[in-house]
Amino acid sequence: MSVSVPALVLEGAAERFVRGAVERRDPGPRDIVIEIAYAGICHSDIHAGRGEWGDIFTFPLTPGHEITGTVAAIGSEVTSRAVGDRVGVGCFVDSCGECAPCSAGEQQYCERGTVFTYGSQGRDGVNTQGGYSTSIVVDERYVLGIPDALPLDQAAPLLCAGVTLYAPLTRFGAGPGKKVAIVGLGGLGHMGVKIAHALGAEVTVISRTLAKREDALRLGAVDYLASSDPEALAAAAERFDLIVNTVSAPIDVDAIAGLVRLGGAIVFVGMPPEPLSFDVYSLTSKRRILAGSNIGGIPETQEMLEFCARNELGADIEIVTADEVSDTWDRVVAGDVRYRAVIDIASLS
Ligand code: NAP
Ligand code: ZN
Repeated sequence: MSVSVPALVLEGAAERFVRGAVERRDPGPRDIVIEIAYAGICHSDIHAGRGEWGDIFTFPLTPGHEITGTVAAIGSEVTSRAVGDRVGVGCFVDSCGECAPCSAGEQQYCERGTVFTYGSQGRDGVNTQGGYSTSIVVDERYVLGIPDALPLDQAAPLLCAGVTLYAPLTRFGAGPGKKVAIVGLGGLGHMGVKIAHALGAEVTVISRTLAKREDALRLGAVDYLASSDPEALAAAAERFDLIVNTVSAPIDVDAIAGLVRLGGAIVFVGMPPEPLSFDVYSLTSKRRILAGSNIGGIPETQEMLEFCARNELGADIEIVTADEVSDTWDRVVAGDVRYRAVIDIASLS
């Protein structure tokens, strides 16, 4: 049995959203029914919904993996949450729970295949559908608690953008005495600046132009470079201990790697559809580390939420209605949203 709930639906990769419905399963003993209040718009939704990552998504598709809301009902065996609790769901809703990564709390790297919040096949064989909808049913082990200090709308982008930056920043040692650069000041990038600053690092933003300079300084950066300015890049050669690249399009890897000090790291979280190429000398010449990172596991996501609550780090958001989402996607691609659009799900009911 299942119930139909209102949702924004893409019928195909080149389509605009239509108002439709998705099916939600009847809650099992360990399931939580969440009434969704807000859903952030991640650039990954756009890559997926527009077929930019190839043919891996099935339509009709309802994206959305930055979800906050309240618990509407719980299954008979649920102990972690109660009706009315403020909760969130990020990029995945299931995993095997038994492999080495799952046992280590890194469910996003599940060896048997993470079940992502949308566009995956769930254990029941049904395709998952995401948060651009009024409710979702999720196993309690994949539901996060939203601390009271975080408003639900500003918290939604933390479930993907927040943890996607928190994970590499903490893993690669961003903290006091470290110079960190964030490339691309969008949804991910602006959370990267806030989090790296709160971790105690000295943060620089590398953006295409000087247009976002004041915002970057307000968010916690102490310096700002335009990647379109070769002289500014030359002056910053070998300056950074860590660079996290959040850009949704290809970048000049050699130019950015040249800014990393001996033995430092450049970590990719931005996932452009196109393959990148670079000169290996850019790494070997200074024993640089080239790495990638994918979102964060459940314990790490909860830790990030507590960290953001303690440091009062919500996302800088722009609230949009359900009928504005197709146009908002165009605005995200044009770089016109500062810095995360969040759908007010009440406008969908
Ligand atoms: P976003 O809000 O659109 O921000 C991307 C930023 O990249 C823009 O603000 C812009 O920064 C820069 N940019 C955009 N187009 C560019 C171009 N043609 N050339 C150079 N720079 C460009 O996107 P987002 O939601 O932060 O997501 C960023 C990327 O991360 C996407 O590819 C997304 O799929 C990926 N992602 C990865 C993970 C993960 O776990 N690894 C998780 C979530 C998202 P400036 O204007 O400052 O230059
Ligand atoms: Zn995302």
